[in-house]
Amino acid sequence: MLLTLAALALTTAPDGAWHQREATIMGTRIAVELWAKSPAEGEAAIDAVMKEMHRVDILMSHYKPESQLSRINARAGAEPVKVDRELFDLIALSLDYSRLTDGAFDITYASVGYLYDYRKRVRPDETQIEAHLAAVDWRSLELDTAQSTVRFARPGMRIDLGGFAKGYAVDRSIELLQARGIEHASVSAGGDTRILGDRFGRPWVIGIRHPDDPERMVLRIPLEDVALSTSGDYERYFDANGVRYHHIIDPRTGHSASKVRSATIIGPTATQTDGLSKTAFVLGPEKALEIIARIPGVDAVFVGPDGKVYYSAGLEPPAATGPKD
Ligand code: ADP
Ligand code: MG
Repeated sequence: MLLTLAALALTTAPDGAWHQREATIMGTRIAVELWAKSPAEGEAAIDAVMKEMHRVDILMSHYKPESQLSRINARAGAEPVKVDRELFDLIALSLDYSRLTDGAFDITYASVGYLYDYRKRVRPDETQIEAHLAAVDWRSLELDTAQSTVRFARPGMRIDLGGFAKGYAVDRSIELLQARGIEHASVSAGGDTRILGDRFGRPWVIGIRHPDDPERMVLRIPLEDVALSTSGDYERYFDANGVRYHHIIDPRTGHSASKVRSATIIGPTATQTDGLSKTAFVLGPEKALEIIARIPGVDAVFVGPDGKVYYSAGLEPPAATGPKD
């Protein structure tokens, strides 16, 4: 009896309340939920997160012609382009993910990727893909750390940071909340989420949806103090002639990468989980699991084309491990 009372006392939240808000930024749904001691503190913290999301959006946007990223894409083929340290560091970091994923993550995918427009159902034909594919090569990005410049070593190269922009924005938001003394929070930008702390004695529960049915859950995972990214072929796509054209591009072929329907990565930071969530689409679930197994503290769940669910060793459900002897 005493024990139960003690446990109850631990799970009781201190003075304060949960605050939440949703917005559309970076072309996606932003959701923030946090515990704050007063409404003023809670609302100010959420304001700060939304402001940061806008800032990162402008930093990484390729839609805005005046953005630094657009300047790189317009001029780095001709000369080294100087950029702010933050953007330079992110481009340098993208190369780490290219190395880690055997080139599945490649920000130069955009050389071909920009030929697709999913909303307008536009896709390149084989001739166009062939003409642009030679420009997809992360090894041809020349970075000068001392000068903070970027240069393209191949004609027609383009870069796009959409592959980890949301994860990065989520990490920045969590850091900002921590600096304000917030200890319990969840921040999502589309499929990228990071959670801080627990829900006073209970974990946050995050669901992974079925690729064909948003109401059906493949898995629910209890989580604390961790990041999680889900990529799916149902996010930005159109179907034509029985083929799904969607927003994750295989840098080797220029086509949509379809070796899985969805991939969820769980790990310490959202930049990391976002950067890794494209791997299984390009390399297939087996190869992606090998890569995941080499990275400490990172787990994965993939849904294959036939609906088969793949788990990394750290997540395998008890039923799938077979009888014990
Ligand atoms: P979201 O943009 O909703 O976070 P994902 O995390 O699944 O979705 O990332 C998909 C985005 O990644 C695409 O919209 C595109 O900007 C970018 N991308 C597509 N293919 C690649 C690739 N092979 N390497 C790096 N980034 C990619
Ligand atoms: Mg993402």
